[in-house]
Amino acid sequence: MARSTLTIDLDEIAANWRALDSMSDCMTAAVVKADAYGLGADRVAPRLAEEGAACFFVAIAEEGAELRRILGPGPSINVFSGHMPGDTAMIGEAGLTPMINSLDQLIRHVEALPRHSFGIQLDTGMNRLGMEPAEWAAVRDIAMTQNPTLIMSHLACADDPDHPMNAWQLERFREMTEGLDAPRSLANTGGVLMGADYHFDLTRPGIGLYGGLPYVDARPVVAVDVPVIQCRDLEAGETVGYGNTFTAPRDMRVATISAGYADGVIRAMAPNAAVYAGDHRCPVLGRISMDLIGVDVSALADPPDTVELLGLHQSIDTLADAAGTIGYEILTSLGGRYDRRYRGA
Ligand SMILES: *Cc1c(COP(=O)(O)O)cnc(C)c1O
Repeated sequence: MARSTLTIDLDEIAANWRALDSMSDCMTAAVVKADAYGLGADRVAPRLAEEGAACFFVAIAEEGAELRRILGPGPSINVFSGHMPGDTAMIGEAGLTPMINSLDQLIRHVEALPRHSFGIQLDTGMNRLGMEPAEWAAVRDIAMTQNPTLIMSHLACADDPDHPMNAWQLERFREMTEGLDAPRSLANTGGVLMGADYHFDLTRPGIGLYGGLPYVDARPVVAVDVPVIQCRDLEAGETVGYGNTFTAPRDMRVATISAGYADGVIRAMAPNAAVYAGDHRCPVLGRISMDLIGVDVSALADPPDTVELLGLHQSIDTLADAAGTIGYEILTSLGGRYDRRYRGA
């Protein structure tokens, strides 16, 4: 079989949630947008609910409706994009809580679904989603009469605890919410790690649950093992792969493995990327193809049956570095071709 294996450890996701939860005195939600960062919301979310998570966040209402089918009634399901045209039936029927981003959304929501729960999203400087200070000042008295279940904002630089933007946004968030009678939330994973000032009433970790930075002590969650399809000897001067970008400087041995950019092994990472055969690092040779990659196995006495792309020897963040990206993008790029196996189910 040439299919690669993606192993997702639900016990480790649960352990990461518990560890992040123990860092604050407030409630800890779980962000499961984009199919739980590509790892399967249908498996991840029920496990986190079992662990005690009662509050989930998704990006769009469609994800929320699907998550409601998965989780059943009970947990709150919050939608970052708020209440968009066309969302009303989904929000109503699935009992979703939109994070209202503008006066337009607020009017749409209270007109279409009076007394249906909603939260408020404020923009404290990221300039992405939410009401800015002036808009909020104009709207807040009316909005507060409708009893929002949450007031939230999002940090732009929480992956860098020393960045002055963090304290600046914290100050804006305090100014915009001081004295309001509603639970507040500011922290993503990075915000949880920055300490109590950032926690308020609810934290919203995502990447830390899935084993990624900036949560350095996260337990690894994913492993990807890739079969070797073929091994061949090269003489010095022979080339490997499309475009002849690699020329063997000496006699070498190359293994062709069964994964490529269609499996989220980003093509641009080729010059810096490697896989592991046991403890041995096998650099990528030449270009990454859609379904295949050549790797250097010259130092191995016997060709391996499979190599590790992700796992104990290589984290999502190490692999991300090779492509100049972040662990989030590695996870959400993995795609649908793997044989997915869940541990701890
Ligand atoms: C994605 C997201 C989160 C989770 O962020 P992580 O860095 O993955 O912990 C929290 N809040 C908002 C608004 C988000 O978009």
